Amino acid sequence: MFSLQIHFVQEGELGTINLQGLCQPVFSQLEEDSLSITTEIQVTMSHLSPSQVTEQTLSIIKPDAVEQNQIGNIIEYFEKEGLSIVAAKMVKLSHKQAADFYAVHKERPFFQELIDFMTSGPVLVMALEGVDAINLNRRIMGPTDPSKAPAGTIRGDFATSIEKNAIHGSDGPNTAKQEIKFFFKDTEIYHRTSSPL
Ligand code: ADP
Ligand code: MG
Repeated sequence: MFSLQIHFVQEGELGTINLQGLCQPVFSQLEEDSLSITTEIQVTMSHLSPSQVTEQTLSIIKPDAVEQNQIGNIIEYFEKEGLSIVAAKMVKLSHKQAADFYAVHKERPFFQELIDFMTSGPVLVMALEGVDAINLNRRIMGPTDPSKAPAGTIRGDFATSIEKNAIHGSDGPNTAKQEIKFFFKDTEIYHRTSSPL
């Protein structure tokens, strides 16, 4: 019988995580296969910085940029910065879809206008993947208001107003997960096994 625990200190308090239950199937399988378990276990722990973690984020090329025939030009901004498109589809959002997607903004004065704009024509919805993808994508997009967006960002180069600003991107890890799920099943996402750069 083996026991495996992790002891840690959090805010000055000692804590313990018991991994016994989690590891028991592994131990049992090893014993069944008549493999011996060494008494030495090497534990490697490292704290990964955002610059080392591969993430996914949701991107939408909005109706204004689709209408301007800029899909290919915009996708190039992602690929040349090392983001890969791992899922994509063109859709024309219904009012309900757009309202659900932007529910967080429902009390904002521009909400109805935003829904009308987002349903005014087809959009290209994509899941982007790469190291630090969520923040990197926001940097590639530029700020919401194109008058503040530098040239070389997607909004700086393609947006025509604070509303018609060419592109959507998730703003954090939780929204990225929710928003990808809003449009794609797990089986529609084709993760890259190796880095493109
Ligand atoms: P972002 O898209 O940069 O995350 P927000 O989440 O704040 O920005 O807003 C969602 C979208 O709502 C914006 O991309 C834009 O299309 C629209 N929007 C934001 N602020 C305004 C505004 N003041 N007037 C009109 N539309 C706006
Ligand atoms: Mg937002």
